[in-house]
Amino acid sequence: MKLSDLIHSPKKSPLLRRFSTLIEPKSDAELESMARQSAALTRKHFGNAIRLFAPLYLSNECVNHCEYCGFSRDNPILRVTLEVEAVVKEARHLAREGFRHLLLVAGEHPKFVSPGYLERCIRALVAEIPSLALEVAPMEAAEYATLTAAGAEGLIVYQETYDREVYAELHTAGPKKDYEWRLACPERAYEGGFRRIGIGALFGLTDWRSEADALGAHLDHLLRRCWRAQFTVSLPRLRPCAGSFAPRHTLPDREFIQLVCARARAQPSAICSCLSASP
Ligand code: SF4
Repeated sequence: MKLSDLIHSPKKSPLLRRFSTLIEPKSDAELESMARQSAALTRKHFGNAIRLFAPLYLSNECVNHCEYCGFSRDNPILRVTLEVEAVVKEARHLAREGFRHLLLVAGEHPKFVSPGYLERCIRALVAEIPSLALEVAPMEAAEYATLTAAGAEGLIVYQETYDREVYAELHTAGPKKDYEWRLACPERAYEGGFRRIGIGALFGLTDWRSEADALGAHLDHLLRRCWRAQFTVSLPRLRPCAGSFAPRHTLPDREFIQLVCARARAQPSAICSCLSASP
């Protein structure tokens, strides 16, 4: 069975059925009770620790067109790719501010943001920055292996939306059009040696409950297949950007809190990374 069919299968495990129940509409009293139980579970698994990281943007060059992104190739914005020396300078500034975890972020452009360029950036930083993660274009497992050998330890790749039709509507040009290639990326990252892997969806592209169900199913699959890795789940909510895109759906604060609590209750070993401005 294809991974996408597995994720969208109507046959759900007991854990995923429980998650779907947790995100159904709740009264104030039920939500309060969920929040208390989720907080207790999170403390049990992680104590009071919060991991803070800073994104360091390497390049906004991109060959893809994603309707919701200001970096899309057709948007007439200034394009910049940092030289390795400039990357080191930025990283040192962030380290002086106290950040020990950096996330290197770039658009998808094989000429400007090649695996070789990323490897040079990682090698230039690894002696000074204790923890380096990447949020860059999906790659083959062998390419990931060169980046983990250079010292990268984390990789983040959001599916953006798990709804196949909406995905096709919003990703209209470039390699990112391939839904299945992107969906299999976390497993290629694991094969390439990454042991801290982040997945997520952009809330605002489709109905939040069906998106959350599919995200939970993907995580469930990954926790079984990639059992030596630690997973984070991100729940960003979309905001208007360069171009004409406006989010199609909302995830209000109350439901957002419910989603965070449901995630903690259903799959407590996955870290919830809630990068989310109020819509
Ligand atoms: S691939 Fe990433 S950077 Fe490029 S347009 Fe899409 S979301 Fe933006």
